[in-house]
Amino acid sequence: MAHNDLISWEAEDADTDFENRMVTTDYIPEDEGDNPLRPKTLSEYIGQEKNKENLSVYLTAAKQRHEVLDHVLLYGPPGLGKTTLAAIIAQEMGVNFRVTSGPALERAGDLAALLMSLDPGDVLFIDEIHRLPRTVEEILYPAMEDFTIDIMNGKGAGAQSIHLPLDKFTLIGATTRAGQLSAPLRDRFGVVLRLELYTPEELAQIVERSARILDIPCTHDGALELASRSRGTPRIANRFLRRVRDFAQVYSGGVIDRDAAKLALDRLEVDELGLDALDRRMLTAMIKHYGGGPVGLDTVAAVIGEEAVTIEDVYEPYLMQIGFLSRTPRGRVVLPAAYAHLGLEHPGTAGQQSLY
Ligand code: ADP
Repeated sequence: MAHNDLISWEAEDADTDFENRMVTTDYIPEDEGDNPLRPKTLSEYIGQEKNKENLSVYLTAAKQRHEVLDHVLLYGPPGLGKTTLAAIIAQEMGVNFRVTSGPALERAGDLAALLMSLDPGDVLFIDEIHRLPRTVEEILYPAMEDFTIDIMNGKGAGAQSIHLPLDKFTLIGATTRAGQLSAPLRDRFGVVLRLELYTPEELAQIVERSARILDIPCTHDGALELASRSRGTPRIANRFLRRVRDFAQVYSGGVIDRDAAKLALDRLEVDELGLDALDRRMLTAMIKHYGGGPVGLDTVAAVIGEEAVTIEDVYEPYLMQIGFLSRTPRGRVVLPAAYAHLGLEHPGTAGQQSLY
């Protein structure tokens, strides 16, 4: 199978509203220009300090021993740099980077052919590894553990299992939902790294680096303004940079300073904390119709017409990080900070006030 057949950069099925979101963390066609912005080495990769430190020890040790790197699982919300980090690992090890994704591998044979085509030491990156069909996943167990595959030849009673050796390779799996991985698959990763949302300072560094590459004049304050509205996510920060450049060109002589950034993002209806109309609609609906919760995820999904997985992977991580939402065993609860941000009165506060 041609390598290109396996590459899947498509955004998942999404409704139109969601596709048009400036703050979606999913890859959208507008992010096409991201390639030159991807850091190529670990030292260019900003943030995720603890992960980088550990990874650089594993890389050095594997190189010193002339061994392949252990299999790596990267997990965390979309747009945080999992694919970028996987490509850096291949680059640092000096091997090929082969890319595929869980949904692209429909049959066991697809994965078997891919595994057999790898050169010694290659990195095979499987994005959305939690979406691998079970029959395909089973091929991975012996491949990851002993670098062998078992292929069935023929059908029915006469079928024979052929045991083939593979060249050693490193599998890097990426997922937004580590909890959905089966235990046998999860246990076969020697290195498990959880990527965290970035701080505004880190995102500002990413914006300034991207601005230098794209030759866009941008002040530190301007970068920080974009960063603080980017929901902890480099993909969104880079998207804002490209979009805000147009506003800066038309309104403020081409320089992205704080005012230009503010003006542009206000126009795009992304508020100071990075919330857009959909976030506000979700929080407001939970407050107005369900007293702020607890309210079940499926109910929230039905009320705002969005898929539950999208809400869980894309909306919630950031809303939880900024203290607007919490997940409880009985459902989602809107926290007082969100009421304040939306200009609504929190029932707790209202009660307190009435005491005086
Ligand atoms: P994921 O695979 O987690 O969805 P990507 O690796 O595709 O995310 O990253 C999205 C974009 O964000 C990339 O194009 C890259 O330019 C940028 N990016 C991600 N992480 C970093 C980082 N640590 N430093 C600089 N840029 C980053």
